[in-house]
Amino acid sequence: MNIDLHNHTPRCNHATGSMEAFALEAIAQKIDVFGFSDHAPLRWDEGYRMSADEMDAYESEFFALKDKYKGKIVLLLGYEADYLPSKAIDAVFERKVDYLIGSAHFIDLWSFDNPESVFDGFGADEFNKRGLDETWRAYFAAIADMAASGLFDIVGHFDLIKIFGHYREKKPDEAVENALAAIAKAGMAIEINFSGWRKPVKEQYPSAEILKLAYALKIPITFGSDAHAIDHIGYKRPLAYDLARSAGYSEAAIFENRKMRLVKI
Ligand SMILES: [Zn+2]
Ligand SMILES: [Zn+2]
Repeated sequence: MNIDLHNHTPRCNHATGSMEAFALEAIAQKIDVFGFSDHAPLRWDEGYRMSADEMDAYESEFFALKDKYKGKIVLLLGYEADYLPSKAIDAVFERKVDYLIGSAHFIDLWSFDNPESVFDGFGADEFNKRGLDETWRAYFAAIADMAASGLFDIVGHFDLIKIFGHYREKKPDEAVENALAAIAKAGMAIEINFSGWRKPVKEQYPSAEILKLAYALKIPITFGSDAHAIDHIGYKRPLAYDLARSAGYSEAAIFENRKMRLVKI
C-alpha cells in the first residue's frame, strides 16, 4: 500500500500548491492513503505556521476534498505540531483529527533547522557555539520528552538534527536509544521522511541504522514526503519503501480518528 502522511499547505506560509492540487497529484501517483499535516499554530515562530483562526478553514477545505475524491483516494487529516509547552496552543490537541505528528524543530526555542530564522539571540553559528555533542543530546532529549507527553501519534523526521550534515559520522548512541525507548513506550510510530533527500544531509530521516533499531523495538513505521510543493510529493518514495523492507518491515501504520492500524506494504 502506498502511504504518505506528511504534507503541508500554503497556510504555513512556506509551502506552495493548493490542497486540491496535492490531492490530485497523490491520485496521479496512485497513493492509497494521503494525509495533510500542516504546521499547527504555536506562540512562537508564527511566520512559519498557520494561525489558530485558520484551523477551521484548513479542516473544512480538507473535508470537502475528502468527500470529492472518495473512492479515488483515502485522505486523512492531521497536524504537525511541536512539543513546546511554554508556547503551545493546546487547541490542536482538541481537534478531531486522524493523527498528530510530533516534531522537534526547536532546541530551547532555537529553530535549528531553519537557517533563515536568526533572531532572539540565536545566530547562524549556534551549532558551533553549543557544540555538536551537546546539540545532539539536547535534540534527542526533546524528542524523548515529546514522546513521553503522550500527545502525539507519529514522530516527525526522527533525526532532523542531521539536516545540515553536521552528523554524518554520528552513530546511534544513548541519546538516540533513550528517544526510541520513549517512542516505543508511548506506542507511537515513526515516519520515514523523504525530505532529508532534498536537504544538505542528502539522506532520509531516520538513518538506516536507526530504522533497524526501531524495528528491533517493534516501533511501527509510516511514510511521509514532508511536501511543501507539488514536486516534493513522492520524491524517492521507492527508495524509502526499500529501506523499510531491508530493516525488516512488512507493514506500515495508518491512522483514523487517532487509532493506528497496520497495513501491508
Ligand atoms: Zn515546513
Ligand atoms: Zn517538520
